[in-house]
Amino acid sequence: MNETPDGLNVAETDEVRVRMAPSPTGFLHIGGARTALFNWLFAKHYNGKFLLRIDDTDTARSTDESMHEIYTALEWLGLDWDEGGNIGGPYAPYLQSERKSIYDAHVTQLLESGNAYHCYCTPEELEEIRAQARADKLPRSYDGRCRHLSSDAVDSFVAEGRKPTVRIKMPDTPIRVDDLILGSRNIDPATLEDEVIVRSNGMPNYNLTSIIDDAEMRITHVIRGTEHLNNTPKQIAIANALGLEIPKFAHIPLVLDSSGRKLSKRHHGDLVAVNRYREQGYLREAMLNFVARLGWSYDDKQEIFSVSELIEKFDLARVGKSGSVFDIKKLEWLNSHYINQLDVSERTDAVIPFWEEAGLLDSTEDRDRLIRIVEAVGERLTTLQDIVPQTRYFFTDEFEYETKAVKKWWGGSEEKRDKTSEILTNLLQILEAVPSFDVETVETAIWKYTDENDIKRVAAMQALRIALTGTSFGPSLFDIVTLLGRDEVLKRIPRALTELQRG
Ligand code: GLU
Repeated sequence: MNETPDGLNVAETDEVRVRMAPSPTGFLHIGGARTALFNWLFAKHYNGKFLLRIDDTDTARSTDESMHEIYTALEWLGLDWDEGGNIGGPYAPYLQSERKSIYDAHVTQLLESGNAYHCYCTPEELEEIRAQARADKLPRSYDGRCRHLSSDAVDSFVAEGRKPTVRIKMPDTPIRVDDLILGSRNIDPATLEDEVIVRSNGMPNYNLTSIIDDAEMRITHVIRGTEHLNNTPKQIAIANALGLEIPKFAHIPLVLDSSGRKLSKRHHGDLVAVNRYREQGYLREAMLNFVARLGWSYDDKQEIFSVSELIEKFDLARVGKSGSVFDIKKLEWLNSHYINQLDVSERTDAVIPFWEEAGLLDSTEDRDRLIRIVEAVGERLTTLQDIVPQTRYFFTDEFEYETKAVKKWWGGSEEKRDKTSEILTNLLQILEAVPSFDVETVETAIWKYTDENDIKRVAAMQALRIALTGTSFGPSLFDIVTLLGRDEVLKRIPRALTELQRG
């Protein structure tokens, strides 16, 4: 059995059961994907179960749309769940909004055992209590005044129409938190106030529902971001008061941007949205590899991990304690690596949806030609979406001539442009006349012309490339010429000549 540096056993249960518990209040972000991946890898590594529980008690902010977006993102990543979400399982329901009666029963138990109480303080009163606590420099703000209300006081609050919250009584002894990544600590009870576990509208709060569900669903390990670290002692206190089994905890470090700020939806917008990467043509394998390395490492050297290698090597003991930086350049590098790993037929299948999305394919398009285009592009793709700007001219002549390219290769002066026109006019005649339109014939004919007329090969090639594509970069010119075909080439050169004459 693996041990962390603190000697805590990572998995000593019969069956590992872990969960991801997203709140469906937005898209799945990189941090959420990382939580999902670490849990999934941990489950797979130990032959356990990965559950997807939906924390949707915040009915005002939770939406079905967000829930489905989270499913789609996880499905795309291939992080399949054994129970929960839309598939159910032995501890159903897995949507917290459908589990209210379970929470209510636990709250009754807490109230009856004297471990929880009704709090009738109004928001204004709570603000005053908080201000006083601040002035007195107390580590917690609520003073527990409703713990011992007389029945007369309760009656008069009820008569006033006040709706109570329910608060858990925090213990007065330290709470020990054992964390498989961060080690053990004792939390001073003076820093913990009696937490609201049920709001005045009757809806239970996260700390209550989370630990009840973790116990009810037999979760053995809670692996989540360090932003929940402060919640853990509260959840342990609630579990102790209810006599529930307490799972092991592992808090994984924050994901930071390059300036050390926590990566968040609020500050980084859709830069952190997983689906955005899918839409832009990042491969699942690249994403998983990238996300795995946000906080986890195998050794100092290895960067490329296949999914099966991740399952084999993943271990909480090798998750760092400090934040990890989101480096888009690294993701791009990994993505081009995985794109280049695909053979040309797989790569063609992968880019077809992007051509379709851009409206470039029609039903007559021949797959062999598409494969040849992808072959011509070679290893130039960082994302699958790059295929669109890099190959648009193969499908349409609606492109602009790039100003910089035109200036450099067609010429800035009238004299230079006249020379370019002459070269293109000659190339037009040559390409009209070649007996066949294959790479070898075209190449031989063009070199014959340049060499016999003392024209620099690169000058002729670039002039023609811009005439056919609008740009000075891209695949081999002879691939472009033959892939466009004679008819198209013979149309595009005259169009370029007109453009050149316009100056
Ligand atoms: N719903 C919480 C969140 O999305 C779950 C936290 C947890 O894993 O306990 O952050």
